Order: sequence, then structure tokens, then C-alpha cells
Amino acid sequence: MVADLLHPWFTPQWERLLTQHRSNRLPHALLLSGAQGVGKHDFAQALANLLLCHQPTASGPCGHCHSCDLRIAGHHPDLVSITPEAIGKPIKVDQVRVLIDHLHSTAQQGGYRVVIMEPAEALNISSANALLKILEEPGDNTLLLLVCHQPGQLMPTIRSRCQRIDFVTPTPEQAQAWLSENLGLDTEKAQQLLRLCHGAPLKARRLYESDLLEQRKKLMTGLADLLRDRVAVTDLALQFGKFDLLQCLDWLNSLLSDIIRMQLANLPEPVVNPDMKSMLQAVAKRADSAKIFALADRIQEERVSLMLRHNPNRQLLLERLLLLWSDLARKT
Ligand SMILES: [Zn+2]
Repeated sequence: MVADLLHPWFTPQWERLLTQHRSNRLPHALLLSGAQGVGKHDFAQALANLLLCHQPTASGPCGHCHSCDLRIAGHHPDLVSITPEAIGKPIKVDQVRVLIDHLHSTAQQGGYRVVIMEPAEALNISSANALLKILEEPGDNTLLLLVCHQPGQLMPTIRSRCQRIDFVTPTPEQAQAWLSENLGLDTEKAQQLLRLCHGAPLKARRLYESDLLEQRKKLMTGLADLLRDRVAVTDLALQFGKFDLLQCLDWLNSLLSDIIRMQLANLPEPVVNPDMKSMLQAVAKRADSAKIFALADRIQEERVSLMLRHNPNRQLLLERLLLLWSDLARKT
């Protein structure tokens, strides 16, 4: 069971923690830091599973003790998971207060209590301050696992109270081998997925298993059609408005990065989106770099406001961006 969650590129971190655990030197709080989608969450879960088990074996939790039964059934009282109520929203102070009450009031099942908080950078000032109380006095056999994609956004007082473990992105060979084996993909397909996910294998697997790849395909076809004046901006915005908007912005951004690299570094082919080679070559050849950077800035602004606002006008937002995109390759 640990094997499914424990990815081979994290073996050194795992071994180190096991050694600490065996000599009763585990800290009260670990900050698991690294890029999104490299497997930190699985690592945290694997560690929780091991610590909760009453009869762990050398290879991990036994899978059949009372504690393992509770965990597998999905309601172990000593395993608490805290995430924002919606993607991009903060972890609220009330959520941390409930956690404090829970840690104070519940009886332990005779082993560890484990809290997995993700992403820890979603703590706002009040919830981070509330969490400090737990970090100062967590109680016996309690471990907080803060899974963090952007440790720089975490309050220094939180960071300094955790033992930090850094998780690097696996090498392209490791990531590709894992993805190919996991999803039964050929090398080229696995590499393409990894390029779209900055080399993060778990993110690549999620992408493959979702309908996002289909959305990407439609987005790319639409953008190419727009450059050829085959489709109206309003119609395209209406179609894209049903997609995952943040993901669309990321993909649009990755196209721009490819174009910028092709122009500035004089690369003959795109790095991230080789399947869109002819479209990107055409834009790179004709587009004014000031316009490309202006669009990239605009995307970044929209990303930020999307994270802050509840209900942006998706149609308007997309129309503005698509107009700028269609203008890229237009002769002036
Ligand atoms: Zn067990």
C-alpha cells in the first residue's frame, strides 16, 4: 500500500524519516515543500498510514489492524485532512479552530494523530496565527504535515516551527518511466504530458485522467482558427467559457512562452507545445514581441483577479484575451 503512494524519486526522504521515526526523533511538524504534482500529497498520506498503523511491517502499514481498518474505511478519528473549501480560496480560521478543538477533545486510538494540511500557503494571517498555537503545543504523538507548493508564501513564523523537507521534481527519465508504466503510455505520449505539466508526474497523470486534454485540443483548434479568421471571437469565448478557465490561461501562457523562446533564442520548434508547431512558427515569425509580452501580462492580471473574485465575467475576460491573441499575427 505504501508502494502505491511512495514514488521512487522520494526514497531518500522516506528513508530519512523512517530512521527518525524508529529512533523516536520525529518532529511535531513537517513542511513538505516542492512543486505541485510531484507527489508530496501521496508521500504525506503514506507517512500518515504508517504512523497510524498499530502493527506496521518493514514495508509499511499492515492493512488489517483496527486502526488500518478505520483508515481504509475513510473515518479514522486520528487522521484529519484540511484543505480550502474551494480551489484558490484560503484555509479559514474556523477550520483551524475546529482542528484545535478536535485535537483537544478526541481520544486517540492508541497511536499517532496526523493532520495533513494542503496547500499550507492557503493559510491566511488569522488561520496561520491560530495554527501557531498547535505548532507550539501539539500534544504527544501528534504530527502535522504541511504540504506546500510555494513555501515563500507561508508566514515565516509557521516555517520556522516546522522541519522542512524539500521534494525535487524527478528527472525527466524517472518521470517518464513512471508515467509510462502507470498509464501504459508510449514514451512520446508520456513526454508530451510531462511537458504540459512542467515535469510533474502526478499532475500529468491527473491531466491524462481528466477531460482537460480534450479541452486543450479544442482550445488549440479554436486559437488556430481565430488566427485564420475562421471563427468569431464572441463564439470562441462562448465555447471556452465552459472550460476550466485557469487551466486555459496556463495553456495560453505556455503558447506565449514557446513563441518568446522561438523568437529570442531563435529556436526552430516549440518546446512545450510541439503539437502546435506550425501555428506557433507562424506567430513567432510575424508577431511583434511587445504585443506578446502585453498579452502575457494581461493573462497574469486575469489570473490574479480570477483567484480573488468570485464570479468574473468569463465571456468578457475571454473576449479580451482572444482579441489580443488574434491581433498577434496580424500585419500592422
Ligand atoms: Zn495496521
